[in-house]
Amino acid sequence: MRLSSLSNSLLFLHPKPPFPMANLTTTIATSTPRARLKGIVFDMDGTLTVPAIDFAAMYKAVLGGDEYRRIKAESPSGIDILHHIENWSPDKQQKAYETIADFERRGLDRLQIMPGAAELCGFLDSKQLRRGLITRNVKESVDLFHKRFGITFCPALSREFRPYKPDPAPLLHICSVWEVLPNEVMMVGDSLKDDVACGKQAGAFTCLLDETGRYDSPVYANVDLKPDFKVSSLNEVYSLLNEHFDLAP
Ligand SMILES: [Mg+2]
Repeated sequence: MRLSSLSNSLLFLHPKPPFPMANLTTTIATSTPRARLKGIVFDMDGTLTVPAIDFAAMYKAVLGGDEYRRIKAESPSGIDILHHIENWSPDKQQKAYETIADFERRGLDRLQIMPGAAELCGFLDSKQLRRGLITRNVKESVDLFHKRFGITFCPALSREFRPYKPDPAPLLHICSVWEVLPNEVMMVGDSLKDDVACGKQAGAFTCLLDETGRYDSPVYANVDLKPDFKVSSLNEVYSLLNEHFDLAP
């Protein structure tokens, strides 16, 4: 596990430190005021559910092998498939959406809740922390997830909410519904380019779930976007929250 400390995140990563930078060193040396946290917003696929969609195969099916390889080489942090098909002709776009929906449907058949997700939700409840969800998947998938999981996230925004991640709009919308500031919220997700980018742009704390250590690859060494925290399992999120945040209601 590689976890950046809160002081590092405030100094180098977080866009809106909650106290003046000039006082930071002495403040940390004595008693560090912890940032208040009032809610957590989760990504769904690969974060609250075990990865069940073969995204590389989906992108290849939509873009074709050559185009897939070309775009992949240009986008080290990942491919934004919805963005790529946005300006296609209606016929071509329709076909692409059908291909994506087919992959998502097959993913739903294999849907499994991520280990630690239910326990983490219980912990959030015990601290009266709100929980929301933002996904680029469709509402139908969110409805099925809620039904299978038996725990509800509110608001839960799917790709029918435009603009979708990595745009900060869905996260800012949730903050406004909750009547909290973005820097009182943490975005947790397994995608640097969608979840961390969305959280950062909104001014929220960000936590990257990297189960396999794929973001330790040299491919990401020169990517500017960095999360405030990184965990390899949802089970690590409790200690992170307890250690670095004021969770009082
Ligand atoms: Mg995901």
